[in-house]
Amino acid sequence: MIPPSTLAVVDPSTGAVFAEAPVCGPEQLDRVMAEADRAFRDWRCAEETRRSALRRAAEVVRDAREELAALITAEQGRPVRESMAEVMASVTWLRYYADLEPDEILVRGDARVTRRPLGVVAAITPWNHPLAIAVWKLAPALRAGNAVVLKPSPYTPLTTLRLGELLRDVLPPGVFTVVTGPEPLGAWMTAHPVPRKVSFTGSPETGRRVAVAAAASLKRMTLELGGNDPAVLLDDADPEKVADGVFWGAFANNGQRCMALKRLYVPRGIHDEVVEALAVRAREVPVGAGADRRTRIGPVSLPAGRDRVAALVRDAVSRGASVAAGGRAPRRAGYFYAPTVLGGADDGMPVVDCEQFGPVLPVVPCRDVDDAVARANASPYALTASVWSADPDRAAAVATRLDAGQVSVNTHAGGVRPDLPFGGHKESGLGVENGPWAVHAHTDLHVLVG
Ligand code: NAD
Repeated sequence: MIPPSTLAVVDPSTGAVFAEAPVCGPEQLDRVMAEADRAFRDWRCAEETRRSALRRAAEVVRDAREELAALITAEQGRPVRESMAEVMASVTWLRYYADLEPDEILVRGDARVTRRPLGVVAAITPWNHPLAIAVWKLAPALRAGNAVVLKPSPYTPLTTLRLGELLRDVLPPGVFTVVTGPEPLGAWMTAHPVPRKVSFTGSPETGRRVAVAAAASLKRMTLELGGNDPAVLLDDADPEKVADGVFWGAFANNGQRCMALKRLYVPRGIHDEVVEALAVRAREVPVGAGADRRTRIGPVSLPAGRDRVAALVRDAVSRGASVAAGGRAPRRAGYFYAPTVLGGADDGMPVVDCEQFGPVLPVVPCRDVDDAVARANASPYALTASVWSADPDRAAAVATRLDAGQVSVNTHAGGVRPDLPFGGHKESGLGVENGPWAVHAHTDLHVLVG
């Protein structure tokens, strides 16, 4: 079969193709990797040049914020105000890595320990945050002195391609290249002899394939994979007071976030009240095209994602859960699915046990805190989690018992910041992004004695 020469890009709010992106073949990828390897040789030597380039990159992205936000919404579907928040977060990340103080050189007697960049980094990103996740990879890799070849998801290539164009005047040729195309482009990158590291964000299934491919040449790797993030409500939580925070923890970006709140454990005594408080919000929230400024929840990004959520909801209902809000796809063009709250859900239902990655929140009644903690931890995933209570100290004590890379009190994923490590425990990933840890993850230690 002859591979397509262009990639069709679909607007999820209409289901119509509205743009095309180039397809990178194997010979072109070889050329890109060779150029990145050449560019790395000078780039690795000039830390101050790298810091000022990142500062300039932040300005360029900020100046293009309207255009970038509109592109994210067009190809991914989310409301334009969320897209703008993603662009401005990317600016913050670029500035953070420009300003981060250099590591001190460690002296041990007659030995000096320094960090050295690795070389070329193959970065691979998913479709749910096409700009922010690219910048999370790009900024620390460049700051450490590496060159980056980045492949966005074939569903959302446009924002990342535009980022590449915008940074053409900021970075030397070859230091940052965006390649686009369907699989096997990602597989070629992870198996390619030039990159010394793979920085991957995506599903656990693909993450495992990436790990196997990268292991063949012992490439360093950072894997940011899926989450099935639990929230535990304590018996003193006021359902009305926590409902907004829980709702948006679950439904921001239509639930299509690795760190979305995906299962909610509540004491039996307040289950009905909590479900109703969430259901009211789900019924009333404005759903529509992301480009419409009144919209708070857009379409699901892919038809397969909408169909997966619909199947999970049907299955949960057949096993005894009840639909308190949503539970249907409205009759309109595009990949819409009504924000759905399920009451009386239980572990063992796939909607609770799997990463739904869409607009559904199952609420699971529990006997007590120990029951809730045990259920929350009984998952191969451990990315983020949250605990909700009128007493923050009590909540913090429960938070220490939850398995996750990050646990928040009375908010969900409240610590997604450039200066804090972000990464999953268990099968949610390997390594962390952000902070100085992400720079370190793009280096090898080097010891000079004498
Ligand atoms: P995906 O795994 O299908 O794809 C991710 C990327 O990998 C895409 O660019 C894809 O083209 C590429 N890819 C596919 N097969 C490959 C292969 N064999 N080798 C190399 N690359 C390959 O994931 P998705 O559907 O785009 O994204 C959703 C998933 O990403 C969810 O599981 C979500 O939780 C996860 N995610 C995790 C984080 C995090 O920080 N932990 C953040 C966002 C999304």
